Amino acid sequence: MIAFCDLLKILGDREEARDGSLSVSDILDQQLTAMGRNWEEVGREALRQRIVQLRSLYDWPALVAAINICPERTSRGFELVDLFNLLDMHLQSGHGFPDREKTFLPPQRLIGARGALGLLIQTMFYIDWHAKARKKRDLRHHEELAIALGRRMQNEGRRIASQGGPDDFELDDFILGDVDFVSLNWDPIGLWAQFVANRSLNGASNIPHVGTPAHRLALYHELGYFIAGPRVDKAHKGSKVWQPMNVSSARQLNDCNHGANLRIRVTNYLFPHGCLWWRECPNCGKLSSYIGDVWEIDSTSLLPPPPLRAFVDVGQFKSWCTGEEERSKWQLGEVDARACVHCKTLTYAHHTPMVMQTNFKTAPPPFLDEIQREMRVVVQQADHIVLAGYSLPSDDVTYRAFFSARTRRNSSGLKDSNREVRCSVVDLDDRYGDGWIYPAEIQAKGKSPETVKNAQDAFGRENVRFFGGGVPGVFLDGNARVSASAVERFLLWDRA
Ligand SMILES: [Zn+2]
Repeated sequence: MIAFCDLLKILGDREEARDGSLSVSDILDQQLTAMGRNWEEVGREALRQRIVQLRSLYDWPALVAAINICPERTSRGFELVDLFNLLDMHLQSGHGFPDREKTFLPPQRLIGARGALGLLIQTMFYIDWHAKARKKRDLRHHEELAIALGRRMQNEGRRIASQGGPDDFELDDFILGDVDFVSLNWDPIGLWAQFVANRSLNGASNIPHVGTPAHRLALYHELGYFIAGPRVDKAHKGSKVWQPMNVSSARQLNDCNHGANLRIRVTNYLFPHGCLWWRECPNCGKLSSYIGDVWEIDSTSLLPPPPLRAFVDVGQFKSWCTGEEERSKWQLGEVDARACVHCKTLTYAHHTPMVMQTNFKTAPPPFLDEIQREMRVVVQQADHIVLAGYSLPSDDVTYRAFFSARTRRNSSGLKDSNREVRCSVVDLDDRYGDGWIYPAEIQAKGKSPETVKNAQDAFGRENVRFFGGGVPGVFLDGNARVSASAVERFLLWDRA
């Protein structure tokens, strides 16, 4: 927590300021001391300069001022989406606004406030992950679920292969599994668990074989975009750049005339709002990714560090610095500096693309635009949508319209009109026990949770079921272990 206290101190948390001043250059002694713990150069002026540089990127007082005028909607306070809305709306129109004390915040400060919001979210995820990774808390269920999903992909692949001919490996039915993932926040832990699980399944001696002659059946992911990053396995000879598999490559390799010695299935995993692993290069504009140093579920180098030395340990991020320039920045204290895979320009924490589905969004960068289009395709083909940790709130106009269009299209006699779109809602509500409950029972219970009502509005009462035991309960069996049958109940509407 020292690291987090240093960060707030350096960014000028208002509790620390003498008169609540919002000035970037008003720096107190204890703030200089905190900076001194995190910066190689010594002397008041060097520390002052670094503080001003950080504050111009991450304007903490402006963010606090914005939070203070957000409406209090729940007992927990404001909603994150309101804050994104407030900042994005003003950034788009180029207007500022007065804070609670009637001090006017000009639009330039809002860019810094948006930066501070991004950094705050990244830092919270970073701290939470390190607490988890050190204590291995909660990770067993993630791990078991990922293995269960991988085995499911293998079994399904074997079944499809046994029924089809040699050319069928190129068809979408074989290549793509029947489950896709869309993450509306920026946290890559679920995908990381699947990466690690697939890697162990693909490398196992009992890996299934399909086709004649028999080929290994390997599992990979499609992320909706070409996302290059440095290899995790640094001992690998050849290219140090790693790229995830994708559907087009899988289709080519699965072509029986290609000569590849494996058959590939991929799972869609989409981050339409960005991801903590990613950096958008300020020079070439392309996307680079970083997924850590080691192929271990509890990798302590999994998430890029916030921009202070206090967040990193000696020996952690062994391969974060691959070039001379990165190394000298790390030495200095800019531990978040990382070269773009494409043009080698240095990128920093504030280049992590993070958007929210606000009502005032500007055009997203092209990679997010493409991933959002991919999500559209995925959702339009789905006949069962599981909402976990997302409530489809009534003011999320875009997603509501998006899902409603999907259900209307089905009832309008157009393509696939005979397929009902079902929706499963997973939330925490102890009035509902720990089993799935279906439309009639939901009805009989009377007043429904907000999440269920929102889903009923979009999908229709008869198409919504509910699980009140939350995650990970929803895919656990009676022994608190992930089981294949609990996973089937989770994924398939009619397996209750
Ligand atoms: Zn670049």
